[in-house]
Amino acid sequence: MAAGDIVTHDGTAEDFPLWGPQEIHDLREHLKNDVPLWDVVVVGAGITGAGIAREAAQRGMHVLVVEARDVAYGTSSRSTRLVHGGVRYLEHGELGLVFEALRERSWLMQAAPHLVRPERFLFPAYRGDRLAPWKLRVGLTLYDMLNVFRGRTHALLDRDRCLQEEPLLAADGLRGAVLYDDAVTDDARLTLTTLQDARRHGAAVLTYARVERIESHDTEHRLRLDSGLEVRARQAVVAAGPWSGPALLGDAGRTLLTHSKGVHIVLRASDVPLRRPLVIQVPGQQRILFGVPWGARTYLGTTDDPFAGDLHDVGVTEAEEHELLQLVARVLPSTPRDPSRIISAWAGIRPLVRPALRNPNAHTEKISRKHRIIARPDGVLGIVGGKLTTFRAMARDLVDRVHDRLERVWPDGARRWTRETGEAPLVPGEPLQPDELADPVLAELARRHGPVARHIACADHDRTPLVDGLPYLWCEIDRALSHEGAIHVGDVLRRRIPLALTDEARGGRVARHIAERLVDARGGNAADVREELERYREETWKETRRAPVYDDG
Ligand SMILES: Cc1cc2nc3c(=O)[nH]c(=O)nc-3n(C[C@H](O)[C@H](O)[C@H](O)COP(=O)(O)OP(=O)(O)OC[C@H]3O[C@@H](n4cnc5c(N)ncnc54)[C@H](O)[C@@H]3O)c2cc1C
Repeated sequence: MAAGDIVTHDGTAEDFPLWGPQEIHDLREHLKNDVPLWDVVVVGAGITGAGIAREAAQRGMHVLVVEARDVAYGTSSRSTRLVHGGVRYLEHGELGLVFEALRERSWLMQAAPHLVRPERFLFPAYRGDRLAPWKLRVGLTLYDMLNVFRGRTHALLDRDRCLQEEPLLAADGLRGAVLYDDAVTDDARLTLTTLQDARRHGAAVLTYARVERIESHDTEHRLRLDSGLEVRARQAVVAAGPWSGPALLGDAGRTLLTHSKGVHIVLRASDVPLRRPLVIQVPGQQRILFGVPWGARTYLGTTDDPFAGDLHDVGVTEAEEHELLQLVARVLPSTPRDPSRIISAWAGIRPLVRPALRNPNAHTEKISRKHRIIARPDGVLGIVGGKLTTFRAMARDLVDRVHDRLERVWPDGARRWTRETGEAPLVPGEPLQPDELADPVLAELARRHGPVARHIACADHDRTPLVDGLPYLWCEIDRALSHEGAIHVGDVLRRRIPLALTDEARGGRVARHIAERLVDARGGNAADVREELERYREETWKETRRAPVYDDG
């Protein structure tokens, strides 16, 4: 079997390929028995790795992605969930970065309109704030220009209009605000969808397989996995986010990164009933916070602090929750200050490119978000930094380098590889039509799955809600198990749908049922179900400081 032929398809033209227990098993067997030579093996299935896999597969390369845990397990499920130009980078003079991010935002709003939702953000200024209304106006005028005036331009609001727009704002000291356009997404689903598109173009994805080292033999790269398996590649690419260190990149990875931690907290929308996303200035600092309405919830964040701990043990601390509540209360005085009102939380690590010698100790909030490509002497490539928003630009940059090397080292294969990729959407298929959207279940599913909603909501699929008060449906769980490569409970309840962050008591109410189905599908017994539940409890506790509440205690 050729490396790229591994993916099976369920027969419907515009659907994604199957990715359930059978396909996962088949891929593992294939890798054990055939030892294929892939054109590109990508280490890491965050947004960076997913973007590279998509780009390379679209150019006709045979691609394998190897991920230590689950799709989007790392930073790519722990961001502020914005697809944005980054207003605040203007202050650092990063016009190129903002221009690129705005261009990519514009593409993403067309390529995945169901996942990248435009919103009007409100950015108020209070007496004593670093950014006064006139400064905001100058910044946002530049933002509009860098966006080539593609969308609505910003609007300046006086104090009264500002309070009309957002009555929750503290009136005392308020001087005015700007309203401007950016977009909100679901980071984990954006990553999964990008990877699914890569799979549609023939890429294979192996999760729960850690790459322990990468060696070179003649012109080939060989990746040793924790299972002992060896994978062969014409080109290995490390896209391991915060884990992109010397173990994978050798000396090139030694002083590459600065790690910065950011946390978010989730409250009931009834506790913080914001009308639109809000930008909050932090007194005495350059960073800003966001308050983002999220259906029945609102989330608040983020922090930006240097991090030197264990990358597998990143969770929100009591002090961080307290700090966020305090900072928000200045602007939104009705926000509860009692941490017991926090439903859930998440914490992520930014893999920032370490600043040059000139300023090695720059505070993390001032470090550039630009990406960097590095090469080991044996040709293994690594890519770090960047943003969720700019994943396609990063991927193009990196795959251009891959292409050049492949062409040089294997001129025979070059005929198979193309140089250009188009502007194709992330999810193929016609958008849902008004008569289809009249069906409330389809309309709800379309918000998360786009045109694929049609396949998820088929007549014989279970359209009942997963829990009361939140929009997720059992047919989405079926989909996660058949088409989305979920292996453990956390894959389903944290990264396929975000129930671990939005409640019913942090996914615990349905976890047993899901564990049983997962174990059933791969063959196991009651002890395996218990192990799944313990694993989910540990993962949820570590990240959110709150355990899932199982029905049986
Ligand atoms: C708090 C916070 C807020 C942010 N907000 C935004 C935002 O609003 N908008 C925006 O555009 N960007 C935002 N970002 C930045 C953005 O989230 C990151 O730049 C991006 O997610 C990084 O993706 P990545 O794929 O490089 O890394 P990751 O998502 O961390 O992926 C790396 C993957 O590699 C895997 N891996 C590691 N080691 C190995 C190994 N040995 N073998 C196999 N696999 C391995 C990991 O398990 C992981 O899944 C934010 C970041 C943070 C931390």
